[in-house]
Amino acid sequence: MDLKGLARGLVSLFLPADCKICNQALESLNFSYICENCWGKVKWLKMPYCSRCAKPFPASLASQELPSLLCAECRQGSSPFKKIFVPTLYEGVMKEAIHLFKYHRKKGIMKRLEKTLKFYFFHTTDLPFSKFDLVVPIPLHRKKLKERGFNQAELLAKAIATHFDLKLVKNNLKRVKATKSQTSLSKKERLENIKGAFQFRNKDEFREKKILLVDDVYTTGTTVREAVKVLKKAKAREVYIFTLARAS
Ligand SMILES: [Zn+2]
Ligand SMILES: [Zn+2]
Repeated sequence: MDLKGLARGLVSLFLPADCKICNQALESLNFSYICENCWGKVKWLKMPYCSRCAKPFPASLASQELPSLLCAECRQGSSPFKKIFVPTLYEGVMKEAIHLFKYHRKKGIMKRLEKTLKFYFFHTTDLPFSKFDLVVPIPLHRKKLKERGFNQAELLAKAIATHFDLKLVKNNLKRVKATKSQTSLSKKERLENIKGAFQFRNKDEFREKKILLVDDVYTTGTTVREAVKVLKKAKAREVYIFTLARAS
């Protein structure tokens, strides 16, 4: 094998060759590991949904007065956050992409996710993001961060802060408890697991601020609610949430 061939061979070792979802060969250097055809099948969150927590409603509600509609849970209790912004549903392609990103450390997917974010920002007219004072990612515990090598919420928060020219504050909210994965736990266990997981370092940085708290996925909301409580304890004025995807 000549040098060029050897180089090509070496490069191909590190490059994704097939789409991780449909197994079709990827056309060019595609670090998102997923072909454009599959990305096109991402499910966007569509009306009707709860105006606070974005819980999807049955489509039959579509003709009613929707913008102010709240789900039963949001009607009942007072929510610690004002509203969640979330572009997609946590299923199919997006679920797969987030898994590759998080658990298989395919960090290259972030570039493609940024494209999805920009599409959402461009096509959503009522986003108040430029009015926020700070963007704060849900932190990982230092052990988890060491293991994974990056915090996916922080990468998303950074992309948002850059896009809207906002201040990113990534070291003030801290995860002090190494929590178990929430996925297999009941609601009660989740609450117990996450309780006391976050602390702030410097109260003044959050005081009176309008904060956008960022995570990758919203499932039951237990994690973000706990983090919002801590931001509120630091006297944050208002907290909004952004997650890339939401469980339906
Ligand atoms: Zn594909
Ligand atoms: Zn709701």
